[in-house]
Amino acid sequence: MTNPTVLILLGPPGAGKGTQARMLEEDFGLVQLSTGDLLRAAVAAGTEAGKKAKAVMEAGQLVSDEIVLAILKDRMAQPDVSKGIILDGFPRTAGQAAALDGLLQAAGQKVNAAISLEVDDEAMVGRVSGRYTCGSCGEGYHDEFKKPAVAGTCDKCGGSDFKRRADDNAETVRERLKAYHAQTAPLIAYYDGKGVLEKIDAMGAIADIRTGLGSIVKRVAA
Ligand code: AMP
Repeated sequence: MTNPTVLILLGPPGAGKGTQARMLEEDFGLVQLSTGDLLRAAVAAGTEAGKKAKAVMEAGQLVSDEIVLAILKDRMAQPDVSKGIILDGFPRTAGQAAALDGLLQAAGQKVNAAISLEVDDEAMVGRVSGRYTCGSCGEGYHDEFKKPAVAGTCDKCGGSDFKRRADDNAETVRERLKAYHAQTAPLIAYYDGKGVLEKIDAMGAIADIRTGLGSIVKRVAA
């Protein structure tokens, strides 16, 4: 049996990690593993971890490695990850990257590629602060760039219940960008040093980025 593929998507908030991870799920049968989604689920469920994470997330700062790693390990222990994973929003610190290496090594696995989605910071505040999703199917929309064909109705499932993330406002996005540059951007050099770094221009059309990522995945997948 071949080893499961392990991909990491790196990039600031708004770079399109979540959008592209969902497309890679569709295209390659991999499983998106978003620590942001897992943390938001913990907050919504009111778990101990969720209670601790809530204020930190609303301030646009990083949740402790301890909480994030516990949540991630639980998720990685589930059987559906066996074909491979796309890590979206993880690792975000040097400590998390080292912990991931340890987890993978223990399972006889490795990172196939850490793909940096290259974008202009300036554009990210506008991208993130206008975005919202369908509460029923999760389809993403944007106030300016991607409105539903019929206002108030999801194109994909017909739902009418839309949600915005509590941290998707201009002020918090600026904090999240700062956290990205201080704590996460150094991981680009870390994965370059390991020989698994890939870069992709992520300012263009979503479909073009999907195609570019697809070529990388075909080349690096186990
Ligand atoms: P995201 O959905 O990836 O934009 O993450 C939303 C928020 O969840 C971040 O601003 C952090 O507060 C928290 N978060 C998500 N993933 C991590 C992580 N790997 N390490 C620390 N905090 C995280």
